[in-house]
Amino acid sequence: MTRSSEGWIRNFVDGGFVDPDENRGFDKSDPATGHVFTRVHEADEALVDRAVASARRALDHGWSDTPVRERVALLRRAADRIEERFEEFVAAEIADTGKPVTQARELDVARAPANFRAFADIAATAGQESFITDLTGGKQALNYAVRKPLGVVAVIVPWNLPLLLLTWKVAPALACGNAVVVKPSEETPSTATLLAEVLEEVGLPRGVYNVVHGFGSGSAGEFLTAHPGIDGVTFTGSSATGTHVMRTVAPRVRPVSFELGGKNAAVVFDDVDLDEALTGLSRSVFTNTGQVCLCTERVYVQRKIFDDIADGLAERAARLRMSTPADAATTTGPLISQAHRKKVLGYFELAEQAGAKVIAGGGVPDLGAALNSGSWIEPTLWTGLTNADRAVREEIFGPVAALIPFDTEEEAVALSNDTEYGLAATVWTNDIRRGHRVAQQMRVGISWINTWFTRELRAPFGGAGLSGIGREGGESSLHFYTEPTNVCVQL
Ligand code: NAD
Repeated sequence: MTRSSEGWIRNFVDGGFVDPDENRGFDKSDPATGHVFTRVHEADEALVDRAVASARRALDHGWSDTPVRERVALLRRAADRIEERFEEFVAAEIADTGKPVTQARELDVARAPANFRAFADIAATAGQESFITDLTGGKQALNYAVRKPLGVVAVIVPWNLPLLLLTWKVAPALACGNAVVVKPSEETPSTATLLAEVLEEVGLPRGVYNVVHGFGSGSAGEFLTAHPGIDGVTFTGSSATGTHVMRTVAPRVRPVSFELGGKNAAVVFDDVDLDEALTGLSRSVFTNTGQVCLCTERVYVQRKIFDDIADGLAERAARLRMSTPADAATTTGPLISQAHRKKVLGYFELAEQAGAKVIAGGGVPDLGAALNSGSWIEPTLWTGLTNADRAVREEIFGPVAALIPFDTEEEAVALSNDTEYGLAATVWTNDIRRGHRVAQQMRVGISWINTWFTRELRAPFGGAGLSGIGREGGESSLHFYTEPTNVCVQL
């Protein structure tokens, strides 16, 4: 049971749930209502130490030598079991985030078994590099790489797509024979903990998957990344936290994989099918209340259709339905917390001070007594800003975008690339040559043409600039979660 007898969400260490220390807990509230619904046991340094030690023991006791076919079979059983307990995961994700039930079902929780199955397939069929080297005197040498598990991997994830992002890292880590210590966001402790039950049920050896709850600095996040017993860190979160984590692990030169923030552009050319582009743009700006690292916050529109796109998108924003997450008609949930809403509202103020014209939203909605204590915010669109304004330069991470006109293709590329981030871009055009040309010039990890958030789990995923270091997905994940030894034999 993830919960203690007092109803606390517990840490999971060395194959068991740990009884909470009553002096170390924090409240978790429902973002839709603002009501506290549980307490979470915050792991102290000693418990993090136990988690790392148990992961090391699991590796030493044979997990890292388990044949790939057995590890892969276990991943497939995990996928099946998540599907059997699907509605529990949906309920847990909704309680933590307030996200609409349709999204929790179709995106967040659906991607968890998909991640386990995808990495089972990828690991099952992975080959190794080998090279024949010509030596002097007509001799040759054979070089081949033996890929070994990285070891004890610290997995640190954010709150926006909690289970999806967690399983995207845990599945390949386990497929490669690593043991993990997971630190979910303090805002979303539930599904990582439920996953511990599932992995135990399908026979994962004790110590291979551990969960420690808490915050960043001075708490479980820092205790984990500073721990001398970890062999690598895979981190998804903000660019600011990424730099902290990098500093913390630097003295011990551990590998890091960073999936960080974004300030993603969409470019809309005047040859588009308006309706298709508007549907796509509306998804890319407002999905998950704008709290997806890949969401569009800058929309560059070719001048001839600027008003059509601005009016059409504003009309779609007004149609979004904010209501209780359990209602299947709800399209838009709250922000994750009051603190995050304060930050987003700060950008609303900055935008207005910079002369923005608000063409949709712009404030806090009145949703009635049951929801008004939640952290709701109106889907919002601005015109009248430029790339010089902070609201156009900094990641806001809310349901908000600035619309800016452009004239030429070169200008569109330059405006899109005028950012320190480099995560994603979207090009909307019916000119296929131009689509490819522009998409390739974007300085980002993923560049979409006439689609958004379409993901191929075998393809490399990550970001340039402030948006990250390294790639995960497909073979890239296998590379991060293993350490190769090159064997060279003279033939
Ligand atoms: P965050 O950086 O505040 O926190 C992320 C995780 O790091 C949390 O678990 C947090 O507790 C932990 N943490 C915080 N400080 C730490 C420290 N000093 N040491 C160790 N751990 C620490 O991010 P967030 O607010 O939870 O998530 C939103 C951010 O995540 C946005 O910037 C978003 O763009 C980014 N994100 C990126 C991707 C991607 O794939 N590139 C995906 C999702 C979210």
